[in-house]
Amino acid sequence: MLIVMRSDATPAQVERVVAVIAQQGLTPHPLPGATRTAIGMTGNTGSVEKSLFEVLPGVEDAIRVTKPYKLASREMKKDDSTLRFGDVQIGPKTFTLIAGPCGVESEPVILQTAEHLMSRGVRFLRAGAFKPRTSPYSFQGMGLDGLKILAKARERTGIRIVTELMDTEHADAVEEASDIIQIGTRNMQNFSLLKRVGKCRKPVLLKRGMSATLEEWLMAAEYVMAGGNYDVILCERGVRTFSDHSRNTLDLSVVPPAKALSHLPVFVDPSHGTGKRNYVPAMTYASLASGADGVLIEAHPDPDHALSDGAQTIDFATLDAMLAKLKAMAALFGRTMG
Ligand code: PEP
Ligand code: MN
Repeated sequence: MLIVMRSDATPAQVERVVAVIAQQGLTPHPLPGATRTAIGMTGNTGSVEKSLFEVLPGVEDAIRVTKPYKLASREMKKDDSTLRFGDVQIGPKTFTLIAGPCGVESEPVILQTAEHLMSRGVRFLRAGAFKPRTSPYSFQGMGLDGLKILAKARERTGIRIVTELMDTEHADAVEEASDIIQIGTRNMQNFSLLKRVGKCRKPVLLKRGMSATLEEWLMAAEYVMAGGNYDVILCERGVRTFSDHSRNTLDLSVVPPAKALSHLPVFVDPSHGTGKRNYVPAMTYASLASGADGVLIEAHPDPDHALSDGAQTIDFATLDAMLAKLKAMAALFGRTMG
């Protein structure tokens, strides 16, 4: 059930609704919108009596949410969600680039990347300190030492950090070091991890599972939101198909339905989506055209010597050329480059 408040409802009226939901033994989720607040509720096993809420002052309507995901659904919130990071935002008005090496490899590589990105107006650095590698013999990331390097880059340049959390054990450390916590494709349905980041106070970038349907993906976002963390970014990164010309099949066709069914920002990862650096620019432009709110791209000062995913990693010259084109394209789509 979703309680839609009138646009002139007072904070006290919102609080009253929240209290009545809690009295029913349910969890209230107030979500302020551009013009009015909507209050979702979770935890009910049967149906909830609408009339309990319809009579309360300030309530415009009580609506049953038909989708299995509630808080993530467009029914819950009509407007696109905007995430704010000081003077930077992620949402419908901007097209945001998050770029950086696949993994934290060394302090010089991270500092050099952070400085380059900031000089070009790119405000988010990606790099995994914990790497989920297919082979146990591949570079596994620098772990806690990697987080220290990311913290140094943030302190020195002011760049915001996006880094992956692989297991609950490192949740506190990753939350501390990051501005956005990444959940990887392999963990999209790791429900204990999703519940744990639902308790974190940092936004979560949730990669789509490599064989997950849109509904499964939105249900994974719902796990995070049901825990009280409403700042989720969805990220398409390619799915498994019969095609073998690319590492994965980048499913840009999921972007419009994801945006139609959910108010959450949707990103695309053209690096893991293609597996080949030559294809990254075209798929980045296509991501913007598909309605995505941003891209997550692997970029490195010397991709040929990157310790992981070098083949799909672009160099800084390519990044700069892409940025110039994106700026012109973004204007056409009513966005500014974030
Ligand atoms: C990554 O972003 O480096 C990564 C491991 O991504 P994914 O979970 O999509 O494979
Ligand atoms: Mn990678």
